[in-house]
Amino acid sequence: MLTTACGNSAAVQIEEGKVNVVTSFYPLYYMAKEIGGEHVNVVNLIPSGVEPHDWTPKSVDLQNVSKAQIMLYQGAGFEGWIEDFKNGLDNNSKVKLIEASKGVTLIEGTHAEEESGHGHEHGHEAGHNEESGHHHENEEGHSHEGGIDPHTWVSPKSAIVMAENVKQALIDADSSNKAYYEERHKQLHDKLVALDKQYADSIKQTSKKDIIVSHHAFGYLARDYGIHQHAIMGIAPNAEPRAQDILRLTKLVEEKQIKYIFFEELVSDTLAKTLASEANVETLVLNPLEGLTKEQEAAGENYLTLMERNLQHLLKALQ
Ligand SMILES: [Zn+2]
Repeated sequence: MLTTACGNSAAVQIEEGKVNVVTSFYPLYYMAKEIGGEHVNVVNLIPSGVEPHDWTPKSVDLQNVSKAQIMLYQGAGFEGWIEDFKNGLDNNSKVKLIEASKGVTLIEGTHAEEESGHGHEHGHEAGHNEESGHHHENEEGHSHEGGIDPHTWVSPKSAIVMAENVKQALIDADSSNKAYYEERHKQLHDKLVALDKQYADSIKQTSKKDIIVSHHAFGYLARDYGIHQHAIMGIAPNAEPRAQDILRLTKLVEEKQIKYIFFEELVSDTLAKTLASEANVETLVLNPLEGLTKEQEAAGENYLTLMERNLQHLLKALQ
């Protein structure tokens, strides 16, 4: 994982005559392409198949972003590298940095822990520090000093707010195509609203409300649709769980009659599989939409198709 993270950076191709938009990770790339259409050239900094919690930019990324008009980043503490990155930009650069999560009511990390039944924030923090020697990249890649849950995009409700920010950034950079961006934004907005309704209506009817996931990526989904998430790992996908966490989750499986433990595709599923076999339940994918795998990209999957599949899997698990 470490080697992959160090070796990968997308080659940014600036195109004259278009609004060049650089995005920090997949959901923003998707929104910028959907809304920007033919008038934008969107480049994602993180290549497919790479977990963004593990990723940090290199100097070549800085040079390339300096030439773009817009850089969209998630904010809310997701990109632990963003402040250094801002400081490192070329002085002559006209790039506008836009925080896509702006306007979403954020979840404080401690609150998320409480909601999911964890009562040991400090234990997690200590765990992270012990790990720092082994996961140098990780420690830089995710910063949660503010204790804020950064995963807003996993909830369609928050994605609606984010898409609004992306539209506004494009209009500000290229007002001559305002009507075009507004029309394309409306199409995406309507799809997100329909998705939100689908989530709300169907989850309302499930008998179970508890899910076990790999890392705390589903806090906004949980808040917005009345689910409780219990994470095997902390807020980043590679923090090691402690023995008592595993024990607690095994007990939870029994108490809540949980039938499936969710895993995600960009990180190892070993822990989910181990826990599932110990608790004698099955595993299912719940995608935190932090990036596409190469296969998903090739198959034409996108934010909407993956969020629809997530809902099917959620309903299966919550029956
Ligand atoms: Zn995450």
